[in-house]
Parts: sequence; C-alpha cells; structure tokens
Amino acid sequence: MGDGAVTHIRVRVPGKVNLFLGVRGVRADGYHDIVSVLQTVSIHDTILARLDGKAVSAHPAARRFMELAFTVDGVVDGSVPVNGDNLAVRAARALMAESGVGTAPHTDDQDVPITRLHLTKRIPVAAGMAGGSADAAGALIALNRLWESELDRGELRDLAGLLGADVPFCIMGGTALATGTGTSTAQVLTRGVYHWVVGITDRSLSTPEVYRAFDEVSGPSDVEPDAVLQALRTGDAEALGAALHNDLEVAAVHLLPDLAERRQAMLDAGALGAMVSGSGPTLVALAATAQDANAMAERLASDFDRVEVAISPAGGPELAQR
Ligand code: ATP
Repeated sequence: MGDGAVTHIRVRVPGKVNLFLGVRGVRADGYHDIVSVLQTVSIHDTILARLDGKAVSAHPAARRFMELAFTVDGVVDGSVPVNGDNLAVRAARALMAESGVGTAPHTDDQDVPITRLHLTKRIPVAAGMAGGSADAAGALIALNRLWESELDRGELRDLAGLLGADVPFCIMGGTALATGTGTSTAQVLTRGVYHWVVGITDRSLSTPEVYRAFDEVSGPSDVEPDAVLQALRTGDAEALGAALHNDLEVAAVHLLPDLAERRQAMLDAGALGAMVSGSGPTLVALAATAQDANAMAERLASDFDRVEVAISPAGGPELAQR
C-alpha cells in the first residue's frame, strides 16, 4: 500500500424509528410482507475499522491473507455477541467473501495483516431500533473503503439485503418507504426536523418472537401509510403525531403488557403521538419542540430504564478517514 493510503475509517451509523409499520400476509418462506416508513434518529453506534500490523504497509494483493479482530464497548450487556455472530462481523465476512479479502488459507505467520473492527454501542439492543442492522451497514461501508473493495452503493445494498431486512435502509439512511420483507426501499421526501423522546426498557423483544405473537393475537392489516407520508411532505409534526401507526404494537404489548401504561404516560406528558418502535420494546413519543422533548424526558425518567431525546431524520452513515 502506498504512502497516504487510508488506514483508519470511522463510521457513525444512526438507529431508526418506524413512523409507520403495516404488516401484510405471511409469505411462503415464513417471512411477513410489510409496508413501512423508516426514518433515522440521532442515536448512533460507531464502527471503527483500522489496518494493523503488516496490513498497514502490505501490498493490496496481500489482503487475501487478512485476518479480522473484533471488539465492542459502549452501552452493552451480555446480549451483544462479541464473536462471529455479531452482525458487524457477519457483514465483514460477507464483504470478505465478495471481494476476496482474507480468503487465503490461514497461516501461523505472526506477522499477518490484521483489520481491527471496533464497535461502540449506544443504540439500544433488541429494542426495535435496528441497532444490529446499523452496525452491519457501518461495517460494510467502512471496510469497503478501507480494503478498496470498490463495491458501489447498489452492490453494497444487495449484500446488505442478505444480512437482514433493515440493513439496506441503514446503508442509505434518511427516510424511506420499505416494502417486501423491508429490503426494497425508496427514499421519501420530508420537510422539517422532528423531536422525540425515546423510552428504553432493559427487557428485550426478539423480532421473530414479536411476529409469532402477531400471528396469534392479530392478523394482516391493510392500513396505508398515506397520512404519515403527507405529514412528512408538509413537515407537520402534529399531523405526524396523529398518524403514527405500528401493526406490531398489539403483539409487543401482548408480550410486555406494561408497555401500554408507559405509552399512556407519554401521551399524558404531552406527546403529539406515541408508539412502540418497530418490534419494540422501545417506545417513542413525538414532541412539538426541542423544549417540549426535554421537559417530557424529565417527566418520563422514572417510567423507563433509560430516556433519551433525539431528532429525526438523522441523515445516513457518516464516514471519517485518515
Ligand atoms: P430491528 O429493529 O432491526 O428488528 P432490533 O433493534 O430489535 O432490530 P438488534 O439491536 O439489532 O434488534 O438486536 C437483535 C439481536 O441481534 C440481539 O439480541 C443480539 O443478540 C443480536 N446482535 C447481533 N449483532 C448485534 C449488534 N451489532 N448489535 C446489537 N445486537 C446484535
């Protein structure tokens, strides 16, 4: 690798809220078709990818001997895998297979090129905010640049779709209408900035578990996202608050009944609208202004394990390199 080559990449990836989530029927492969409006929020994870050891000076051809080392810090407990099960590592491995990096047989050479991938978590885990998907997207973007793999955004999105339904959205960020299992996305026109209070619960809900409960206690709906899309087009926070909709909320509340009281507490605190985010159990409340969001967050502090204020949309993955 020549002088001035990039050896460190940092990518900040935002989590998301589903402003609208409609669940259609179950497909033959067991997945549900959905219609969803997704928007990034300003709660970020950070992926740091850096070349180490021989990797810093190695010729690009030596990348096929590359090894990967992974570490995590931040707001984590035992629920975030620190091994190959982590979605950031699965994304890295998928890119390695696609671009030929690290595909040579393992040697005992002490001086092999190493890529160190470090994840700092802030997005709540198994909370319906696409944290794992954001990390997968961040890893794909960071390593594609670090290894000069030169996949374009379309190719990255295709790879992303194999890793999880929300990963293609996380590659692009912003606001999108998602259909199919969620992997087909189209950017949506939005105006304005929205202020949120995010109510985080230590309990987690797995997405498959929530869909199973949905099949038991609810059923396919034909609610359309038009009111949400119209509110976003005009930047009307009050209309957006009234239009927020999530078909999975009934299932999340079925599994964690006290979510209903917490949602009510958000409305009592003055929210323009409140709902379970994605498959939950995070609850999000829309506030009219930043001041309202701060006041509501203070009032709701004792109702949740962690309360944050955030704004949306939060753009897409942001990359810094040296
Ligand atoms: P979605 O909103 O996309 O349904 P989620 O926010 O509910 O996802 P995640 O935070 O992505 O859920 O975590 C789901 C599970 O994935 C966790 O329980 C965890 O075991 C596993 N996981 C793998 N990689 C990660 C990661 N990088 N961050 C968080 N969880 C991860």
